Amino acid sequence: MSVTIPILDLTAQYTALQEEIEAAAVRVLRSGHYVLGPEVEALEAELGAMLGLGNVISCASGTDALCLALRALGIGPGDEVLVPAFTFAASAEAAALTGARPVFVDIDPDTFLIDLESCRAAVTDRTRAVVVVHLFGRPANVAAMQEAVGPEIAIVEDCAQSFGAKTAGQATGTFGQVASFSFFPSKNLGACGDGGAVTTGDPELAERLRALRNHGSRQPYHHETLGLNSRLDELQAAILRVKLPHITEWNNKRRLLAERYTEMLRQQEGIRVPESVEGHVWHQYTLLSPRRDALQEQLAEDGVESRVYYPIPLHRQEAYAQWASGVSLPVTEQVCRQCLSLPMFPELHPALVERICASIARAHT
Ligand SMILES: *Cc1c(COP(=O)(O)O)cnc(C)c1O
Repeated sequence: MSVTIPILDLTAQYTALQEEIEAAAVRVLRSGHYVLGPEVEALEAELGAMLGLGNVISCASGTDALCLALRALGIGPGDEVLVPAFTFAASAEAAALTGARPVFVDIDPDTFLIDLESCRAAVTDRTRAVVVVHLFGRPANVAAMQEAVGPEIAIVEDCAQSFGAKTAGQATGTFGQVASFSFFPSKNLGACGDGGAVTTGDPELAERLRALRNHGSRQPYHHETLGLNSRLDELQAAILRVKLPHITEWNNKRRLLAERYTEMLRQQEGIRVPESVEGHVWHQYTLLSPRRDALQEQLAEDGVESRVYYPIPLHRQEAYAQWASGVSLPVTEQVCRQCLSLPMFPELHPALVERICASIARAHT
């Protein structure tokens, strides 16, 4: 019986950087500074340098980052926000939590990304923003989206899965009016707990975001607006600072694994491999198969863990029913029935990709 290949192994990364991570943690514990201190400030500067953007506002999670971004844009009751139905729920949850109406739109079957035509058709005079999710680490074309929906509508980039992804050398998170990042442990750049950040090229928006994440306060005990308590803690910031210098190398390793998967699976009948594109950071390697469930069973039998990201489209979720009556999104629905994500993390040994693909071949004979 062979060892199980996990879909993600977070201990591999921790082990590789154990000494540095533990030293950083001890440094913080001994410092007496625990929330919004020098580590957070240094991390925000380092992230800004990495992304090529001046304004990075860290916060407590990727979900909060989206909420803060929409709130800073002044979005609330009466407004509509276009959101793809094929993404993690937080992309829509944030819009709903502001009091706005999430309007679900379809995806492009070749990229899994929010579809331009679907957005164009969904725009009304209440539409204030589009959440463009760089799903699975594939950079979406923000400029084309802005062109499709018009200049009055804000583009909010959801970069939770795309840290380090680029289009023509420019990082995701620097194209739209505002962008959100998540440092949840499983993301490409992950902390040892929750964390997130908002980025914007607009200094006024940045000011608002800094106040919003800290109870709507710019000056202690002066509250101009209702905000949130959404701050990053020093421990997570210090750990992220240890990991940040490695992100390019890690993303390159993901790219090599994705190439290897595609090379081996391209000829496989009944499998549709994900398209590669320059600057993709492969948060997930997700294929399509009309016999997805049988495929997943065979993989499990052969000791390979796989996951369905995502089994239920957002417009079919109970929580979003009030905004989804009569909504039908055929591409999203079909993709939810056929998608399967394979093991993908930088420390995955490339030789194991062959074992995984052999199992997939077995399922198709
Ligand atoms: C993970 C994720 C989020 C939410 O991030 P958290 O840090 O878990 O709150 C939002 N959008 C997408 C696409 C995600 O994958």
